Amino acid sequence: MLVSEGGVEVAVPEARDGASDGSGDGVFFNPTQELNRDVTVAVLRAYRDRDPRASSYLDAMAASGIRGVRAGREGYDVTCADVDRDAVALARENLARNDVAGEAVHRDVNALLHDEGPFDVVDVDPFGTPMPFADSAFANTRDLVCVTATDTAPLCGAHFNSGVRKYATVPQNTEYHAEMGLRVLVSALVRTAARYDTAAVPILSHVTRHYARTYLELDHRATSADAAIDELGYVHHCDDCLHRSSETGLVAHPPEACPHCGSSVRTAGPVWLGSVRDAEFACAVRAHVTDDMGEAKAARSLLETLAAEVTAPTHYDQHKLCKQWGVPAPGMDDFVAALEDAGYEASRAHYHGTALKTTASVSEMRAATDDLF
Ligand SMILES: [Zn+2]
Repeated sequence: MLVSEGGVEVAVPEARDGASDGSGDGVFFNPTQELNRDVTVAVLRAYRDRDPRASSYLDAMAASGIRGVRAGREGYDVTCADVDRDAVALARENLARNDVAGEAVHRDVNALLHDEGPFDVVDVDPFGTPMPFADSAFANTRDLVCVTATDTAPLCGAHFNSGVRKYATVPQNTEYHAEMGLRVLVSALVRTAARYDTAAVPILSHVTRHYARTYLELDHRATSADAAIDELGYVHHCDDCLHRSSETGLVAHPPEACPHCGSSVRTAGPVWLGSVRDAEFACAVRAHVTDDMGEAKAARSLLETLAAEVTAPTHYDQHKLCKQWGVPAPGMDDFVAALEDAGYEASRAHYHGTALKTTASVSEMRAATDDLF
């Protein structure tokens, strides 16, 4: 069947939602990732403004090649790699169908990166964890590594042992599971890049449906890698009152008890505590979303929320807070405005409709919003 998306037309064998149906056999095309691909194209446009030298793009898991085709239409010099012969043939056909002069190669991407890298931009979009490809990507990319992870249960601590194994960190299952997963993922990627004296700094990240996506700009200086490591640390979480605190550094000092309610706390980390996006870059990416994209509206909304998010390591679920306090949940905008009126930074967060970020603690939020109840 033929699928049109973002001004290109590609042949795909079957459409399937990997998150719910699994990867299955054969070439895989996931229509629910259109938003991911639309944002990717806008990132590639914005990144070229940021670094005009960026020109080569490797689609590390090409499948139908749609991502590579779309990057090629943006003027990138595209290589589509896949370990499945049928996928390579299909990607080659789809490049030609859209008059994109890229190449499709039947190679293991780790071997390809070592033999033929570096590439300027490498896009790692596997089914499941990206970690088996992280070393070769960071060792053989000049500018930008784009990463998707769909193994949200290991990332957020719901499948604890798998998360520990794959990401060499301690994830904790909390009500901000999507953000926990993203920060576990970025932490593992930052530590992997640091092995090559390279800083990987997330300039855009989002969690949408059942995947996390992050775009890491590389700086190949050991001092920059040190600075990135300095943004790793721990989150201490109280299940009873929802209080949480964080500390940077690679040695954890968990409080003996929650400073707010005295219960025990759980500690996650090392996780990435820094910003998951560069606000200016998020705005630049938003400006490059065009109306020919199928998910243009959702992409603009996502990027606007991301750009405005308060930089804090975790978000709160307003409904969960209000339930905890035994009060009816007011409107989100009123809630956020009350926090701002009380002098705290506060914003919605892109993770879901009742997610918010603030510099206020749980008890400070309760006091600042009391007039709403
Ligand atoms: Zn507590």
